[in-house]
Amino acid sequence: MATRIIYFTVNGRPEKAEFLPDCPAQDVKDLFRVAAEAGPHDILKLYNTNGSIINISPHLEPNNPHACYKLEVVAADCNRKPLGEELTVALGFDLSSMEKSTLEVTDEVRQYLKTPTFDNWQWEDTEIMVLLQVMYTDLDFISTFNIEVEVLQQFLYEVYRRYNNIPFHNFKHCFCVTQMMYGLIWLTDLRTKMESIDLLIMLTSAVCHDLDHTGYNNAYQINARTELALRYNDISPLENHHCAVAFEILEKKESNIFRNLTTEQYKRIREGMIKCILATDMTRHNEILNKFKSILSSFDFGNKDHKDVLMMIMIKVSDISNEARPMDVAEPWLDCLLQEFFNQSDMEKLEGLPVTPFMDRDKVTKPSSQTGFIRFVLFPLFIELANLFPCLEQHIIDPVRKALDYYTEMEKALDKEKQT
Ligand SMILES: [Zn+2]
Repeated sequence: MATRIIYFTVNGRPEKAEFLPDCPAQDVKDLFRVAAEAGPHDILKLYNTNGSIINISPHLEPNNPHACYKLEVVAADCNRKPLGEELTVALGFDLSSMEKSTLEVTDEVRQYLKTPTFDNWQWEDTEIMVLLQVMYTDLDFISTFNIEVEVLQQFLYEVYRRYNNIPFHNFKHCFCVTQMMYGLIWLTDLRTKMESIDLLIMLTSAVCHDLDHTGYNNAYQINARTELALRYNDISPLENHHCAVAFEILEKKESNIFRNLTTEQYKRIREGMIKCILATDMTRHNEILNKFKSILSSFDFGNKDHKDVLMMIMIKVSDISNEARPMDVAEPWLDCLLQEFFNQSDMEKLEGLPVTPFMDRDKVTKPSSQTGFIRFVLFPLFIELANLFPCLEQHIIDPVRKALDYYTEMEKALDKEKQT
């Protein structure tokens, strides 16, 4: 069997990879990884001379040094280790260390924080807490609801502690979703359309919406008869839990950011947050979307029921908005999500439970997982929100369209390769 030689450049440096056509796919990937000096979680993208993405596999079409492919490395360090012990202790005892964070919150950062292009994954956890604090400040929540800064910091620290170090549903995901919500509030100028307390509900729900997520979805919880499924009688066990943990944090005086509000206001916030967080259960997707569609033509910001549905739609959009991010942010996150999915299906196989089809590493490929999701879930949802706020078209619809093209192309490349 003849050795295949693939010539490519990485950062302008010429490299080559040699392998036998029957060698395992993983070995070929590793060859490219080593040549690119990439880490185990980095994403590699290989382009042919036309600039199309080609799949790295033993079936790669051999080329010559004059028609080099181009290899690109996308760092995927979105799942950084939690804070070092030193810092955790420092934070636990002295929240003012948040102010010592190296992050400089300039006007430019403040402005940038309001856009969906915010590349949210390069920030450290302490920096994220500072940025979340900025959001509460810039939406005037601190002054309107008389929130003490120390209490807000303690709240954010408790939230940080109650997110788990898992591939996807971690503290950084919480931040991404919250930042998208924050961006949407500014882009749609919601401050002039809704009451401040509603915006406070939306932002705080985003912060809390995946608290203590274990990395296994509701189907698993129910099939494995976990403690959560038992406690919540199989009804949105995870979302009920996220919400309960949020109010556990808020029950403590030192981290209750709502402690200076009236009983009436607290009641309204609690009702709103429960509604928003429970709405993130994807099995309720069609129910909520259909409700929104039915009121869209007569949408009235003065109607409480209409506003409630909009709030649910806003958190849903924020929660699954990853593909609206720039590609070099979105793709590493998708890899993290697939990693969490595959962990679950591996566990399901191990425990003899029904295997969740879209999580099965033997059936799912990255592009196939995305094209269907974008076409049938993302688009229908995002388009309805953009119907109410046409200004969102360029911010959330256009990038998702690009992502769909990108994954469709990748899917085609994979299919073509299967045929050879
Ligand atoms: Zn989420």
